[in-house]
Amino acid sequence: MAGKDDQDIQEIFKGTGRRHGYDFVEANFFPFKELKSTWHRNRWKVAFRISDYMSGCGEDVLTDYSDALFRRMVNGERVAYTDSVMCWLKSDEFIEMNRPLYLERSRNLSLSPEGRYHDLQSAMNGLRDKGLIEDMEDVHLTWTRSANRKRVGYCSVLMKVIAISSALDSLELPSFVPEYVLYHELVHLEMGRETLSPRHGREFRRKERLFPLWEEAESWLRRVASQKT
Ligand SMILES: [Zn+2]
Repeated sequence: MAGKDDQDIQEIFKGTGRRHGYDFVEANFFPFKELKSTWHRNRWKVAFRISDYMSGCGEDVLTDYSDALFRRMVNGERVAYTDSVMCWLKSDEFIEMNRPLYLERSRNLSLSPEGRYHDLQSAMNGLRDKGLIEDMEDVHLTWTRSANRKRVGYCSVLMKVIAISSALDSLELPSFVPEYVLYHELVHLEMGRETLSPRHGREFRRKERLFPLWEEAESWLRRVASQKT
């Protein structure tokens, strides 16, 4: 893997640790599926496992990231990432380097927008042509392998990946149903990239209701969830 190796990260975390009063610090990259980092500590020593999605970033970014983790650990509260960290996480380079890994680790994805009956790529083009979404390039659309009937859509805003449950890839369902779920996830992407967190706020709901057949789609989804299709 290109970028930082375990030696570099060790040095960076040791330096940050000293500033926070920790003399014995260990840090290694770890292949978590999601972007996350964990730590174990006792009184004197702390050992970090750092998401290897961070391994391609610059030294300044990794230093800021280590500082946020130490502050989170010491104060027990969520600390906002600095601009440098957010900037790296939102960069095209981040996606280019890490999305292939993320997809490889997501075992439940078919890795294709083409289902047996419904095609997510043409659904997305349709949404764009109707003016419901912006022109978005570089979104990875895929069906899931297993047919979850309750969780029908998933969006990684960070990796720009949208997965739709194969429970919706059914001949009995009109195509506006998977299209509606895809639309929901695309609105997450449109609105969530700035903060990298998907939320259902008021503005989100307003946009969601712009989908012409949303009520019909919702009632189809209730039927899917209760296995009546
Ligand atoms: Zn949602």
